[in-house]
Amino acid sequence: MKAVAIVGKKKSGKTTLGLALVQYFTDKGLKVGVIKHSHHGFDEEEGTDTQQYKQIATSVAAYSPSQSFVSWSKEKPLQDLIPLLDADVIVMEGGNKIGWMPRIITVREDDDDKEFFPELALAQIPACTKDNPPSSEEIERLAKLVMEKGFLLPGLNCGACGREFCRDFAADINAGKATLNGCKSTFGKMDVTCNDMPLALNPFVADMLSAGISGMLSQLKGYVPGDLKITIKTGS
Ligand code: SF4
Repeated sequence: MKAVAIVGKKKSGKTTLGLALVQYFTDKGLKVGVIKHSHHGFDEEEGTDTQQYKQIATSVAAYSPSQSFVSWSKEKPLQDLIPLLDADVIVMEGGNKIGWMPRIITVREDDDDKEFFPELALAQIPACTKDNPPSSEEIERLAKLVMEKGFLLPGLNCGACGREFCRDFAADINAGKATLNGCKSTFGKMDVTCNDMPLALNPFVADMLSAGISGMLSQLKGYVPGDLKITIKTGS
């Protein structure tokens, strides 16, 4: 999965750039998931049915022929939300502290990019507005960068790659000093998928599980050492 964050100061054109990139990828036939981070919650028209339920319920799901969504009344870990997106490309607006994917920084002044971790940047572009958006050539250039160099790390900060934080490993990937398969939580001894989406596994947990499962299965008739594939059917 390709992923990129768009970060920058307020009114630097993050949404303008995000919308243009999402439109570009959608026109190319890709499934695009958008993550929007806000420190202040999300505005919704007062008094609608769903808004009234949301105020008092733990979670609300709604579906209609044209739209479906689930809303929780608390912050959820991003790792829980991403698998729900079912996307080829993820475009995240905001989330400066999330260092598990590279970013495009929209720069309002010459030197205001430092707080946005420029070592994670695929590109920095000048601030833009709805009335003065980036050119279509610029959007194409940025979209190609995302398809070539965009990535998503699990965000477990487990340290198994030799870096304390995923953000340090992401910076090394961005600088060409590491590759994605150095992430031991994604490319470790054990792969677990849920509804065809890979789940990140802490290497310590993966080692325990693989040793335990291999030990149990080795007692069964027909067991031959090698790669194992187990499917647990929990659906109806
Ligand atoms: S191994 Fe993967 S999940 Fe663990 S810190 Fe490194 S990049 Fe993050």
